[in-house]
Amino acid sequence: AKESGRNNFKFFDNKLNHKVDEEMKIKEGIISAIKRKEFTLYYQPKIHINSGEIVGWEALVRWNHPHMGFISPAKFIPIAEKSGLIKNIDKFVLEMACKQIKELVDKGIRPKSVAINISSSQFNDSNFINTLDRIIAEVGVDPKLLNLEITETTAMQDTYYAKMIFEKIKKRGISLSLDDFGTGYSSLNYLKSFPIDVLKIDKSFVDDICSDQVNNTIVAATITMAKVLDIIVVAEGVETKEQLELLKMAGCEECQGYLFSKPVPIEKMEEMLIKQKFS
Ligand code: C2E
Ligand code: CA
Ligand code: CA
Ligand code: CA
Repeated sequence: AKESGRNNFKFFDNKLNHKVDEEMKIKEGIISAIKRKEFTLYYQPKIHINSGEIVGWEALVRWNHPHMGFISPAKFIPIAEKSGLIKNIDKFVLEMACKQIKELVDKGIRPKSVAINISSSQFNDSNFINTLDRIIAEVGVDPKLLNLEITETTAMQDTYYAKMIFEKIKKRGISLSLDDFGTGYSSLNYLKSFPIDVLKIDKSFVDDICSDQVNNTIVAATITMAKVLDIIVVAEGVETKEQLELLKMAGCEECQGYLFSKPVPIEKMEEMLIKQKFS
């Protein structure tokens, strides 16, 4: 018994070491990755459900590591958040997205609106608005083409502060999305007082909208409520026609998901912008 106990411990210890090791590597890697331009952006279209038209895009970061290969943001974003490095990534993403939008516009292609994810650390940084102003001015991008996605959880951390920052963002002509809606705990009152344009229903609700009556009802109620408040609803992670049908019936206007398109590199985005429609 003693023997196996020791083995178990050793096994656990190795696994733990491996995890810490990997985290260390990722942390060190993020610092040089920015310099070496290992981060790149993919863009996923947002589709108007009734017309099939592309109404906007979301920029999603991708890391192509020279030794570890492709690392998913689901893996490195949480590590970057813990270590504070997320702010460097956010700045890089903001700058790269603005530059790419500007390049498209200069070619005569207008992407309508491009959403950029803002982490909680960046949102709560006292320099955030300055950084935003600096990048927009340096790149010379039209702020009306930008949308910033802030998660419901981030917005609810300090609602007074969030409202103040939201108003500053809106003043600059940038639109706002409340991301991962339904995973935090917003009350109707806050939703009413936040100057947001778009509400993104989290994928976890969309996942079993066809099988879970309670989820279906929550989604339908959210859409109804958003309409009263003049907020556009985007359903995330739509993968099937059945999900799309139910969302349409519930009055959902826009969606995003593999059913239409996975996130794509900029060249492909350009191609899709020229074609415009999905059918
Ligand atoms: P998110 O903001 O909720 O982004 C949506 C995620 O769902 C993306 O994963 C997207 O590729 C994925 N997705 C979209 N449609 C479908 C679908 O139909 N099925 C499935 N299974 N997945 C779908 P991704 O790109 O791996 O990003 C994961 C998360 O990492 C994001 O969740 C966001 O929280 C964070 N993230 C990604 N890029 C950035 C960034 O540039 N900055 C910051 N701060 N966070 C980012
Ligand atoms: Ca997002
Ligand atoms: Ca989301
Ligand atoms: Ca999500």
